[in-house]
Amino acid sequence: MKTKSAALALPALYALPTLFALPTLLALPAFLAFSGICFLSVLQPFSPSAFSADALSAAVPPPSPGFTCIRSGGGFTEYRLDSNGLQILLMPEHSSPTLTFMVTYRVGSRNEVTGATGATHLLEHLMFKGTKKFNRDLGLSLDQQIDKVGGANNATTWFDRTNYYEILGSDHLALAADIEADRMRNLLLREEDRRPEMTVVRNEFERGENDPFNALMKEIFQSAYVAYPYHHDTIGWLSDIENVPIEKLREFYDTYYWPDNATVTIIGDFKTGDALDIIRKYFAPIPRAPHPIPQLHTTEPAQTGPRRVTIKRAGELGVVGIAYKTPETRHPDFPALKVLSMILTNGKNSRFYRALTDKNLTVGADSLLEYTAAPALMILFAPLAPGATHADTEKAALAEIERVKKDGVTAAEVAAAVAKYLADSAYQRDGSFAIAGNINECIAAGDWTLYHDMADAIKKTTPADIQRVAQKYLQEDQSTTGWFIPLAPQE
Ligand SMILES: [Zn+2]
Repeated sequence: MKTKSAALALPALYALPTLFALPTLLALPAFLAFSGICFLSVLQPFSPSAFSADALSAAVPPPSPGFTCIRSGGGFTEYRLDSNGLQILLMPEHSSPTLTFMVTYRVGSRNEVTGATGATHLLEHLMFKGTKKFNRDLGLSLDQQIDKVGGANNATTWFDRTNYYEILGSDHLALAADIEADRMRNLLLREEDRRPEMTVVRNEFERGENDPFNALMKEIFQSAYVAYPYHHDTIGWLSDIENVPIEKLREFYDTYYWPDNATVTIIGDFKTGDALDIIRKYFAPIPRAPHPIPQLHTTEPAQTGPRRVTIKRAGELGVVGIAYKTPETRHPDFPALKVLSMILTNGKNSRFYRALTDKNLTVGADSLLEYTAAPALMILFAPLAPGATHADTEKAALAEIERVKKDGVTAAEVAAAVAKYLADSAYQRDGSFAIAGNINECIAAGDWTLYHDMADAIKKTTPADIQRVAQKYLQEDQSTTGWFIPLAPQE
């Protein structure tokens, strides 16, 4: 089985203390300086915004029949396929003779309704089960094709997006384009594939349930978001995973899998003209969606008091999670919230580490602040040391949060957090696949230019910004606190 699904989007939840590295990957390493080959369009990244737009460069576009060149920045150039609205992001980078080809669909678990929760992810699995052209019965499954040329492929699903990718030698760009264009509209989607795949997904569900961080995160989101569909986890409810009819999956596929709801990203060793020719050949014949892509109109009602959840389940590690409502990633306060979360929980000099871990209350500290298209959560995690109680740990954590709100943070703390962020970002953009994972989250958050703008905005944060966002967002009435209480296994 090639798919990893939500598990890839939650790498975080499986490995203290390098938790939640994925969404922190945003900085501009020197080797990715701007290519500057594209004319700067009138498109504005976002508004209002603390992010700078000067990262987008202006230059003369190369002639590319059938495409419109939109803008460039951070090493990427954005094009639009005129015939069907497909968005294309290209980053030529010739350090090795390989490339990553990725398709991101702007559909995720937030687009699901009760009865079909987990459908995005289940469909992601079924996307590997074949089309008329590429299927196992012909000895031509897409996995076999990729294996044959020594490549790798996979897919992941998350709240706001689903992505599929191939990592290949640079000679095989056309194969990836052929496979992805083909399964965009030609999936067989057979009931005989759904049944066995459902059990694979059910196993993924069970694994998630056995992880205290994952389990706590799920229940905190369920309590914090009651109307907005971040309420349910990407994996879905078990009864939906088991029972969603194939017709529902087909309906989902036919609603969202269209070129005008997708982005093709290519990073690595290729020439722009060749890549555009290949994209035109395989993707241009696909029609635009015959309907408008449905947009969510639900917003979360105001929370008017603190909420609590408790999970008592077999396990060994007790965890306290304190969550606060935070704005979407494109919001101008997000960079300061990111730095705040790092000051609180990242590393041995963090506030939580010094106040909790050094005092033998916890075995570490970490936080979750994902890239999301809509308002979500900052969750601060405090995994309990042996002998510590949930109540004492929560009290000490809250005291630290109050201290930041009242007294602020130091310039040295901000500088250290920013430096750590930039170092992590450079490391996490090492190679075409890592970059693809990074830009994927930016696309999902609603604007790929976050790829370069976020680092700029992070660098500009000040101690006053940190104290301001702490006071604005870390409010008790906007909090959801969760305790994972481990139970000894029954004899
Ligand atoms: Zn999966």
